[in-house]
Amino acid sequence: MSIENVEHGSRCAADCGFGASSDGIDCLPDGDGCGMAFLLEADESEFHDRYMVEATKAFNAILNMMPEDPKGRKPSFIHTRMGTMLAWVDHNANECEHQVTHESDDLKIAEVLGIRNFGAKGAIQAS
Ligand SMILES: [Zn+2]
Repeated sequence: MSIENVEHGSRCAADCGFGASSDGIDCLPDGDGCGMAFLLEADESEFHDRYMVEATKAFNAILNMMPEDPKGRKPSFIHTRMGTMLAWVDHNANECEHQVTHESDDLKIAEVLGIRNFGAKGAIQAS
């Protein structure tokens, strides 16, 4: 079996954090809730059948169609207790001035990120 090595950035494949404000989102090296937006491709199995394999390929194909960001940010998954959101994140920021992190209150996170639905938690609508 060969494992494809994909360049996703030094520390940011899955385990960085985020600091957000309405001005932007920076990566936090010691945090949780942020990672480069791509899905791991895996062999077909009991829990990752051909539908999962095809869906993974399709998701990654869409993510690969994203244009380069002029500010150098990368498409990223922001994981919150409410669900996961796609966002441009600066993974090269030296300092993060944004105070809202995955540990912040759900309403604060929703407000700063502009989240309009709390789908994973039910029918709460933020708008
Ligand atoms: Zn990062």
